[in-house]
Amino acid sequence: MQYNINKIRSNFPILNEQVYKKQFVYFDSAASAQKPIQVLIKEEELHNNYYGNIHRAAHFMADKATVEFEAVRDKIKNFINAESREEIIFTKGTTESVNLVASSFGEKYLNEGDEIIVSEMEHHSNIVPWQLAAERRAAKIVKLPFSNDGVLQMEKLPELINSKTKLIAVAHVSNVLGTINPIAEITKIAHENRVAIFVDGAQAVQHISVDVQKMDVDFYAFSAHKMYGPNGVGVLYGKEKWLNEMPPYQGGGEMISEVSFEKTTFNELPYKFEAGTPNITSVIAFGAAIDFMNEVGIPAIGEWENELLEYATLKLKEINGIKIYGEPPNKSGVISFNIKGIHSYDLGMLLDKLGIAVRTGHHCADTVMQHFNIAGTVRISFGMYNTKEEIDIFITALNKVRMMF
Ligand code: PMP
Repeated sequence: MQYNINKIRSNFPILNEQVYKKQFVYFDSAASAQKPIQVLIKEEELHNNYYGNIHRAAHFMADKATVEFEAVRDKIKNFINAESREEIIFTKGTTESVNLVASSFGEKYLNEGDEIIVSEMEHHSNIVPWQLAAERRAAKIVKLPFSNDGVLQMEKLPELINSKTKLIAVAHVSNVLGTINPIAEITKIAHENRVAIFVDGAQAVQHISVDVQKMDVDFYAFSAHKMYGPNGVGVLYGKEKWLNEMPPYQGGGEMISEVSFEKTTFNELPYKFEAGTPNITSVIAFGAAIDFMNEVGIPAIGEWENELLEYATLKLKEINGIKIYGEPPNKSGVISFNIKGIHSYDLGMLLDKLGIAVRTGHHCADTVMQHFNIAGTVRISFGMYNTKEEIDIFITALNKVRMMF
């Protein structure tokens, strides 16, 4: 089937906007993706037609909202091929998903002297929660390094694992280098050594088909707002065997079975980890984003973005003084670069004036910046709606900016 880019773009009204009277080119989907009209309509539909607080439903509206909310859990279960819906926990986003596991897994399994392996290419949100958990338990963080082309040094992994290792935390796709990490391979090594694996999928699920059972991961996290869905909601997938054993992360309504001042018992999965009223609106609208991605098809989106990646890389390499960070063989639609003699902030600011939205700075990945001994980069990242014409506009703009220096 042909990838119908015009039809896809027609669902994103914001793409027709102008910025400083210039065509708006959005190359910052890795930070947050734009939302199709279907997601916005779903939010409106909920509030116009069947809003109520979910789960304790004693009336029609609350019951209908509950059914819609829980249907999204099933959609997500299918989207990542989890074994059961009880393994899908709604959170505020990837960051909260990491904090949940770091806190709860840490409390149950981390002891003094234990070790957590964290890759060098992680976003801060897949480093800091582990550091906090380690500090509480006098445990240690161990770095899994990457090489200069942006590939994890897999040969080092077996040497880093010992009897004290409890968990490996790694991104499926790096938000700076674009590297697609060999998760199934890492998981195999982890499990052979009775070590758990936590995967940050924030930059993966919207680009590549994810099958948590096939990869055999223990935990997998992602955010709706990077998946053409709304802000303020994300997912933690966890194998039932872990989630059943782990203590609750937060206390409150919904996560309990019975409460008394003497003893409180906790609800079953997934509710044990969903204290309080969740983000009802965003979860329900997230369902529309999942439907939309399924309709276009993740493999088709991935193929399209790969074409964009190849085309943009080729064009960028023609620019004098350019340095691209991360050229792994398996790469997703993210390119980080600098141009000699121009500060990344200046480049980003001037591109913005020409209508092009890019990201500049450290991208919440200081350890990647430290690896290359740089303060920041310019990052472009693609979504299902980007085109080669937009890349041409960007390259022309980049050359224009370069001439100013
Ligand atoms: N991990 C990665 C790889 C990311 O790119 C991001 C978002 N920049 C996050 C985690 C954090 O996601 P959120 O802010 O949605 O919690």
